[in-house]
Amino acid sequence: MVGVAAVVGSPIDHSLSPALHRAGFAATGVDWDYVAFDVPVGSGAAAVDAMRTFGLAGLSVTTPLKAEVAAAVDRLAPAATALGAVNTVALEGARLVGHSTDGDGFVASLAAAGVDVSGCRVGVVGAGGAARSLVDALGRAGVAELLIVNRTADAAARAAALAAVGRVGRADELVDVELVVNATSVGMGTDQVPIDPALLRPEQVVVDLVYHPVRTALLRAADAAGCRTVDGLGMLVHQAVLQQELWTGRRPDPTVLRAAADAELQRRAIPGA
Ligand code: NAP
Repeated sequence: MVGVAAVVGSPIDHSLSPALHRAGFAATGVDWDYVAFDVPVGSGAAAVDAMRTFGLAGLSVTTPLKAEVAAAVDRLAPAATALGAVNTVALEGARLVGHSTDGDGFVASLAAAGVDVSGCRVGVVGAGGAARSLVDALGRAGVAELLIVNRTADAAARAAALAAVGRVGRADELVDVELVVNATSVGMGTDQVPIDPALLRPEQVVVDLVYHPVRTALLRAADAAGCRTVDGLGMLVHQAVLQQELWTGRRPDPTVLRAAADAELQRRAIPGA
């Protein structure tokens, strides 16, 4: 089976997806390649047309195209319908079907880290696209409580509505949850933290979706507070595993993708490498 899959979005030059997916294809023995295309806002429908024109076998979709691509595919799977956003396009016969694997990838990354979210009290900080995918998936995974804490209240209310147990919360309520997730972009490339570290307790699991740097200031503060921590590469890896299952029917070993991500980040850290 020979195929080419691609990631579209902008900016795209720092995407880890080519490294992850090529490693996954090699691990499952499919003869596929994976390339990245910088596609600007407003060109999501054109990217879907290009998938047809070039006979691409799979598409990953990232910022800022997730909603545009959702509007352009032939059919949406349930999570993508709920979110109005697509991070994966797969072929179903001749039809292009839009999926969202981000939220289920997040839940799978926690399971792989030994964290069972069912019955859990969860606090999600942030209410953008990533947070919305988590709320949808955590609701389906049977969490007991889902608190959404966000700078902009309207966005928090819209995200909370995606799960029956979702509600808008205050930052100081995070002290009572079992799982704290940063789904804001705070900490990306900086040493900023999205919440007051004094709220963290050693019984909590703390996850940061930000993976640049991999050990964010929040995760370092959580380590210092005695919490268990899960970094953002976990979600990135597991949403990619789900993408490959949709495209090829084969499930790559997540540890192979994780090793590829770590190696790629290490390569980029070496000047001139
Ligand atoms: P987005 O849709 O732009 O949402 C950004 C969120 O961050 C919003 O809730 C926004 O609050 C909040 N925010 C931004 N700056 C803030 C600040 N200075 N103070 C407080 N809140 C702030 O972005 P996204 O797609 O959801 O992505 C969020 C983060 O998750 C990014 O860092 C992204 O790289 C990461 N991510 C990781 C993965 C993974 O696989 N690990 C997957 C997807 C995304 P307002 O609503 O108030 O603007």
